[in-house]
Amino acid sequence: MQGDDANSGRGERAELLMVGGGHAHVAVLADWIRQGGPPGGVRAVLLTPERHLRYSGMVPGWIAGQHGRDEGLVDLAALAARAGAEWVADRCAALDPEARVVTCAGGGRIAFGIASFDTGGEGRAAALLGSDPCLLDVRPIGAFVDRLAAMPALARVVVAGGGAGGVELAFALRNRAGTAARPEVTLVTGAGGLLPGFADGVRARVTRALARQGIAVVEGDARFEGGTLVAGATSLEPADLVVAATGSAAPAWVRASGLAADEAGFLLVDAHQRSTSHPHIFAAGDVAARIDRALAHAGVHAVFAGPVLAANLRSALAGESPRATYHPRRHSLYLLNTGDGSAILSYGPLSAEGRWVLALKHRIDKAWIAKYAGLAAAL
Ligand SMILES: Cc1cc2nc3c(=O)[nH]c(=O)nc-3n(C[C@H](O)[C@H](O)[C@H](O)COP(=O)(O)OP(=O)(O)OC[C@H]3O[C@@H](n4cnc5c(N)ncnc54)[C@H](O)[C@@H]3O)c2cc1C
Repeated sequence: MQGDDANSGRGERAELLMVGGGHAHVAVLADWIRQGGPPGGVRAVLLTPERHLRYSGMVPGWIAGQHGRDEGLVDLAALAARAGAEWVADRCAALDPEARVVTCAGGGRIAFGIASFDTGGEGRAAALLGSDPCLLDVRPIGAFVDRLAAMPALARVVVAGGGAGGVELAFALRNRAGTAARPEVTLVTGAGGLLPGFADGVRARVTRALARQGIAVVEGDARFEGGTLVAGATSLEPADLVVAATGSAAPAWVRASGLAADEAGFLLVDAHQRSTSHPHIFAAGDVAARIDRALAHAGVHAVFAGPVLAANLRSALAGESPRATYHPRRHSLYLLNTGDGSAILSYGPLSAEGRWVLALKHRIDKAWIAKYAGLAAAL
């Protein structure tokens, strides 16, 4: 079914409605492709606005000229078609979990029996920094790539956000490919400082690499005040681009739906990735928050929760209780691309760096993409 058909997916009830073509839902679709279709041949709908999922881990590499722009894409429409699911090209605007209906931004309504959410988080750049024409949020990542690709040479860039995403983007923009002059880059870390939650050894390596590449670091919260970008008393002007990698915010429809949510408004789930308030609702990835432990909003958790979600949706469709649980590892592996042909590895207290780390990162990223591209292409 084509997503541009205004009535597609909206007639009869979907036994399973998957909202958002994120990193966990592609694992669910892959499970169905391997098993010959949705469990029990049920009517399944994938509601997601874009045809492609962009793998954010490869975006810094694209900026630095290590990958082509479209190398990090998964074709969701092809994957859904192979999995036997209908794709509806729209977005969830509201959810009524009791009536079991999702209302789309385009006005259509989709009734469901079981629903699963993997919509990611939303950008919060304007809410944190204030609005300005120079401000570019990394979320949604597709729009970020499109806008950056259209920008001519940049003289001075400020990156707001001291987490892994902000650090990688600062390195990438300093090494931006396709322009004659290297932009000057300032990384504004936020009041929490550089790489909060990372080991001292990782922070030390990143600090040295930033200094080596001439990237200035300002500790503080960036904010537009009267059209001027400042961090406390420090002016960050002039800047012809301000990139915000300031983490994700919960979509407003979660709290408005009455589903159990954490303090920040993310959908609360248990270790089965099932809503703690509504057993017919599941969620994974950045839109979800685990009730049993605090997890960073990182793609790695969406990826690893995917097969667990697939197993539990299978059980739920068979009328059984979910059995699979997602036990995140104690530490997550981060491979921070420094844009100059090298990368820094972080795994709990361990750190390392070198060209081999970047080669490892490319191998892991490309293997993930190839797995889904292969499944989608075999139509
Ligand atoms: C520059 C950068 C680099 C990063 N690098 C890493 C990394 O190396 N490792 C790591 O672990 N994490 C990384 N992250 C974080 C990572 O991108 C996110 O944690 C990850 O994308 C979350 O996956 P997800 O499945 O929750 O959602 P997403 O990947 O955001 O997918 C959400 C999907 O849902 C769709 N959607 C959105 N809203 C709706 C709606 N209302 N209705 C229907 N569909 C909707 C979207 O179009 C999209 O297809 C990085 C982030 C950035 C910005």
